[in-house]
Amino acid sequence: MSNTERTYIMIKPDGVQRGLVGKIIARFEERGFKIVALKMAHPTEDHLRKHYADLANKPFFPGLVKYMASGPVIAIVFEGLDAVKTGRAMLGATNPLASPIGSIRGDFALAVGRNICHGSDSVESANKEIDLWFPEGITSWKSVYEGWLYE
Ligand code: UDP
Ligand code: MG
Repeated sequence: MSNTERTYIMIKPDGVQRGLVGKIIARFEERGFKIVALKMAHPTEDHLRKHYADLANKPFFPGLVKYMASGPVIAIVFEGLDAVKTGRAMLGATNPLASPIGSIRGDFALAVGRNICHGSDSVESANKEIDLWFPEGITSWKSVYEGWLYE
């Protein structure tokens, strides 16, 4: 766990279509996470098959890839203390109905196949996902708030 841990957060096509981009980014910014990469992209099915390679054998995989390729996404890297685990907690559970009120999925979504936002599940997958989505690299910068966020 470090102040410079990074996680890959992606607002899925339904989150973009439903106009939730600003609200989702605001939650991470307000919590204290720093944006170190951000772009809109309309991923190909091939790119998404790489992103979700671990799930290739699941029955929902073809539908998942179609859903994720159905429109543009917002790809973001957030940096901050315990970013991976905290990002997952902020998302809620995979199934929005099982997600606590106050979490992103618990507040804005209902169905597992339309759960509006992705978050890396480990530091190792975060690093892989950041390389996959940002081959051009990320932007390191120092926030003036750092002395007020961290001891
Ligand atoms: N998913 C689905 N049906 C399922 C399980 C997962 O459609 O039964 C979708 C859902 O959009 C989920 C994504 O596949 O976010 C990736 O699944 P994973 O288990 O990695 O969940 P996550 O890490 O996103 O919570
Ligand atoms: Mg996952």
